[in-house]
Amino acid sequence: MNAPLPLTDTQLREVQALDAAHFLHPFTDHQALARRGARLITHAHGVHIWDARGQRIIDAMSGLWCVNVGYGRQALADAAYRQMMTLPYYNAFFQTTTEPAVRLAARLCELAPPVGGRAFTHVFFTSSGSEANDTNVRLVRRYWDLMGQPQRKIIISRRNAYHGSTVAAASLSGMAAMHAQGDLPIPGIVHIEQPHYWALRHEGETPADFGRRAARWLEDKILELGPERVAAFIGEPVQGAGGVIIPPETYWPEIQRIVERYGILFISDEVICAFGRLGHWFAYERFGTQPDLVTFAKGVTSGYVPLGGVLVNERIARVLIERGGEFNHGYTYSGHPVACAVALANLDILEAEALPQRVRDDTGPYLARRFAELTDHPLVGVAESCGFVAGLMLVRDKATLQPWPEAWEVGMICRAHCFDSGVVMRAVGDRMIIAPPLVMTRADIDAMIACIRTALDKTWAEVQ
Ligand code: PLP
Repeated sequence: MNAPLPLTDTQLREVQALDAAHFLHPFTDHQALARRGARLITHAHGVHIWDARGQRIIDAMSGLWCVNVGYGRQALADAAYRQMMTLPYYNAFFQTTTEPAVRLAARLCELAPPVGGRAFTHVFFTSSGSEANDTNVRLVRRYWDLMGQPQRKIIISRRNAYHGSTVAAASLSGMAAMHAQGDLPIPGIVHIEQPHYWALRHEGETPADFGRRAARWLEDKILELGPERVAAFIGEPVQGAGGVIIPPETYWPEIQRIVERYGILFISDEVICAFGRLGHWFAYERFGTQPDLVTFAKGVTSGYVPLGGVLVNERIARVLIERGGEFNHGYTYSGHPVACAVALANLDILEAEALPQRVRDDTGPYLARRFAELTDHPLVGVAESCGFVAGLMLVRDKATLQPWPEAWEVGMICRAHCFDSGVVMRAVGDRMIIAPPLVMTRADIDAMIACIRTALDKTWAEVQ
């Protein structure tokens, strides 16, 4: 790796000034950005990133939940270089194709186990998770039109879900702050509560009972709307951006029963949870659900180049192809050969290093154990994990799990201390969350936990 030298204060201030003047960032308060200056990341290797001052930081978020194989993988750079020199671009419209896209589609269908005896036979490629979920909205509506049930238009999602930022994907998302801007959600998308045990449990209710009750909110909503009007349900196996909300084990089997009972399509949004993050190639394997459509992105290329898509089960594919004729939908970069070549090389690494299995059998359980130890800290009410996603609930009173006043922004205070202590964590309210690269070793996990503990100590000293 050619590590750049740290920047001088003058150099850093120049980049920050240009950044504040010209770069409209996603999900960023630009007044705060202009005051403080953006944190400039200059290079990365393995599980570490470096900032412009030369500070080495453990990237416990894998960028934005995506760098599954870690940074600095020569094989991915080589795959991109080779493909760019052979065929940097060609499209997949109007009956043309390229070999990397074909090979990747076939490989993904092979990796995805059949559900209920039905295989995943086709892939629609996009450049992002948002575009993939936009595609899902169109696929689902097209499917029901072709099935002679055009009145089935409504898609049910959940509060605090994150399914992306295009108009349709932001509507599928259940984030109040997103819906407050630009008249969202669009018609035909409704939301039920999320399966968040700690926020919504009744007094004395077990997680198992809560899981079943939370799933039945879907049934209640279907009956309220009229089952004949409901097209699909979409859910993240573990809600990521909503704060790593891990549903009780009883939740997904009950959801599966309900979607089957009313014959509605099931979209498993695995943009975060696939490609080893929960210890399996696909998260539906972890929870035993039987989705019709699986959204993927992020980990398919470990974020080295943009790529997303939808895995389509034969039940849907057959209708689209045999009854449908042309599907009037597509992107310039659907099946981009460079992105697909990088994805194939990335899958080779995941397979050769058995990263999904390692997370399932070794490092995932180890992370769970080390993470659970943090509940001895006075700030931590609950510590939970599932594979390589995990969340800590920061509370004012451990016995009652009383939260901190929202205005104190204890999560944001902790997040700042995390950076200073050498680890990236994300704060969702007062839930501190991680999604580390799957290549983390036990020693890396120990180092990460030590940094988190230091950050918790500093936060505790500041707020108590
Ligand atoms: N779906 C889920 C579950 C996500 O977590 C995200 C992004 O974080 C998306 C969809 C949107 O993906 P993208 O940012 O690639 O558009």
